Amino acid sequence: MRTRLAPSPTGALHLGNARSFLLTWLHARAAGGEIVLRVDDLDSPRVKSGKEREALDDLRWLGLDWDEPEPPLRQSERAEIYDGVADRLVAAGQAYLCVCTRREVEEAASAPHGPTGPKYPGTCRERFASAAEATEETGRQPSLRFVVPPGTVTFTDQLQGPQSFDPAAESGDFPIRKANGTAAYQLATVIDDAATGIDLVIRGDDLLPSTARQILLQRALGLPEPATLHLPLVVGPDGRRLAKRHGDTRVSALRHAGWTSEALVGWLAATAGLAIEGERVAAADLIRRYDPALLTRDQVVVDPDQIGPITEDV
Ligand code: GLU
Repeated sequence: MRTRLAPSPTGALHLGNARSFLLTWLHARAAGGEIVLRVDDLDSPRVKSGKEREALDDLRWLGLDWDEPEPPLRQSERAEIYDGVADRLVAAGQAYLCVCTRREVEEAASAPHGPTGPKYPGTCRERFASAAEATEETGRQPSLRFVVPPGTVTFTDQLQGPQSFDPAAESGDFPIRKANGTAAYQLATVIDDAATGIDLVIRGDDLLPSTARQILLQRALGLPEPATLHLPLVVGPDGRRLAKRHGDTRVSALRHAGWTSEALVGWLAATAGLAIEGERVAAADLIRRYDPALLTRDQVVVDPDQIGPITEDV
């Protein structure tokens, strides 16, 4: 088995990412699998210098390691590869130039938005013959959208079970390159998972609907379809995905507040039934305890107010 850790160095690792990464790492190590490190740094305006190091330091501090490559695969360094594949899709009639802004798409969408956002109505399909023409006519830099074929996409997630999505009805044609020329997440991740031989994708279940779109891209490009395991997200007491509004749950902040790595790993492991509450344990010592059968689909609720007292205790 070969999986990957794919941090987005757009901000510090928080408890939610840390839990997913710990479980991904344990799942791979317990099965004798390999781990690829990939840095998802395509969102360049938000990727500040030093953020990659911070993210990797946090992972190392948690006791997590990876097998290759060295240096890690950085998406920001792979623009030519993504461009080549996107151009191939355009040449095959499977992608097209689009000048619609997010706002226009939102306004055009009549149906309420699902988890994938508003559905793209196909406004720019067969509209422009070249990027130069699109810019001349509209004064805008075009993005590229993938032509989503009609029909449902089904797959069986190793944790969430059988899944069925209808990307044509739910998201419509989706971006594979942004107007600023950067590859979009769906395309980059599909190319990189194939390039690094990933056969099991483990990540947060917010990306479950993305899997259907990624499968469509894999089919269009003749790439293998890796198995998936989507872990439940960590949410705050309000049921919303853990974020800044819930307080400071960054791994680095907890570290500076005096938590030891073993205390934090123990705390994270306890949320997955791998440690008892208050236990201090190193990630490496969890490998033999790890059992994929312990993974559940239940959301993990974290009350940041409870984190305070634990901090003082450490
Ligand atoms: N970089 C993404 C994240 O941190 C993960 C993307 C993926 O696993 O496909 O959420």
